[in-house]
Amino acid sequence: MNHLGLDKKTREKLWSQLAAAIEDYFVSLERQRVTPRFDVHGLREQLAKLDFGKALSPETALGTVIDGLTNHQVHVSSPMYFGLFNPAVSAAAVAADSLVAAFNPQLAAWSHSPFAAEVDRLLIQEFARVIGFDESAADGTLCSGGAEANHTALLCALEQHFPSFSKKGLRGLREKPLLYVSAESHHSTLKAAKACGLGSDAVREIPVTSAFGMDIQSLREQVANDAAQGAKPFFVVATAGTTASGAIESISEIADIARYNNMWLHTDAAWGGAVLLLPSMKQLLTGIEKSDSVTIDAHKWLSVPMGCGLFITRHRNLLTRIFGTGAQYMPKDAAGLDVVDPYSHSLQWSRRAIGMKLFASLLVSGWEGYRAVIEKQIGLGQLLKSELQSADWRIVNDTALPVVCFNSEEPHDREYCAKVAAWVVDSGKAWISTVLLGGRVRAIRACITSYWTEERHVRELVSLVNKARTAISEKIPRPVADN
Ligand SMILES: *Cc1c(COP(=O)(O)O)cnc(C)c1O
Repeated sequence: MNHLGLDKKTREKLWSQLAAAIEDYFVSLERQRVTPRFDVHGLREQLAKLDFGKALSPETALGTVIDGLTNHQVHVSSPMYFGLFNPAVSAAAVAADSLVAAFNPQLAAWSHSPFAAEVDRLLIQEFARVIGFDESAADGTLCSGGAEANHTALLCALEQHFPSFSKKGLRGLREKPLLYVSAESHHSTLKAAKACGLGSDAVREIPVTSAFGMDIQSLREQVANDAAQGAKPFFVVATAGTTASGAIESISEIADIARYNNMWLHTDAAWGGAVLLLPSMKQLLTGIEKSDSVTIDAHKWLSVPMGCGLFITRHRNLLTRIFGTGAQYMPKDAAGLDVVDPYSHSLQWSRRAIGMKLFASLLVSGWEGYRAVIEKQIGLGQLLKSELQSADWRIVNDTALPVVCFNSEEPHDREYCAKVAAWVVDSGKAWISTVLLGGRVRAIRACITSYWTEERHVRELVSLVNKARTAISEKIPRPVADN
């Protein structure tokens, strides 16, 4: 018996079990508890009972994985998950990603997987066009997600502004490089600054306005002050759809400041970038075409499984300057062809065919299918907002995107929002979270992320938060829901 490859009959059973489990999961999302009950001890005990010294049948083994995933995770694909941009996943994408696991295309060298490599290239070009970049000059890479894309942007900016960077590193710099993000930006840029060796002191967090987007005047003044002190402002991030409140910062105004001060403009549209697909909403991101680079996370609003990020820049050749190493042991079968080896073009080396799931999903739904979903979700966001308002909740964010932050007139209890969210999460019936906006406004956050979400789910969520409000004011203990 071949323990890894198994035999034909066993495999066939395994594949049917797999397909059935995936299908069961898709149809059970509606009745499933959205949130798990945490039982660290129970879970560890259960895992400790497994013994790698004793082989299990493939059927039992797969059953163990299925049970574990079913019982111990937040089901982000649920129509009642109103979470942090984690989508319900597209069926075609799941199928394509499974094939990728089976075929295991190696995207380090182009010559090992021409199809997968060219699919990535096509996606970069298509999204460059969607952004409004000149496709012939655009370049980019598929990556693990927004964090890697933002990290890549920072490296590109360093290379562009300090041409000795990739050889001499930061040690070779005489000037003090500074970068600018809003206080509501995603902390992956901060993390990238640390990982690049710039350190968190190199990051200037610009205050936000009452709409929780970057305060442009503060940015202008901070950059001018820093430059006057002899520092070198070189990188600024405009966030198009902040993680907490969906605020879209003024890309055009930030672009003007970037151009005036000779800085790299990166637009982090990890989630919000999806609205570029809607002709009626695209103008919300006006100015994005002036960016030097853009992050779009397909594993957010484009509903493909993690991880699938897009880093796109309008500067050719920078990626190769940063990541090219010319390793002599790498395959050279494609020498002389007009192709790029992905390993010399991105942070990763051996790489999964990340783009395949997005490619398959686009093939099946087309731009039009995506438009329909995104439009519907925006409409549901508006419904959620108005239903909450009718139920006397106070909406505190201001965005056209379907994320709603709300609180109520309970000024005495700092923990009020946390209590409401915990009540809802404990009920097992929905997932929502809390945020602290601009460092001052506590709110409950609900985002339409699942394409399965319909009007009735939105109404159910509102009814849940209303019940939580009543329960908290009457000091009724939190629910312990059964399945
Ligand atoms: C989620 C998010 C990121 C980080 O992306 P990952 O895919 O989690 O790495 C970066 N920026 C914004 C605005 C995000 O919402």
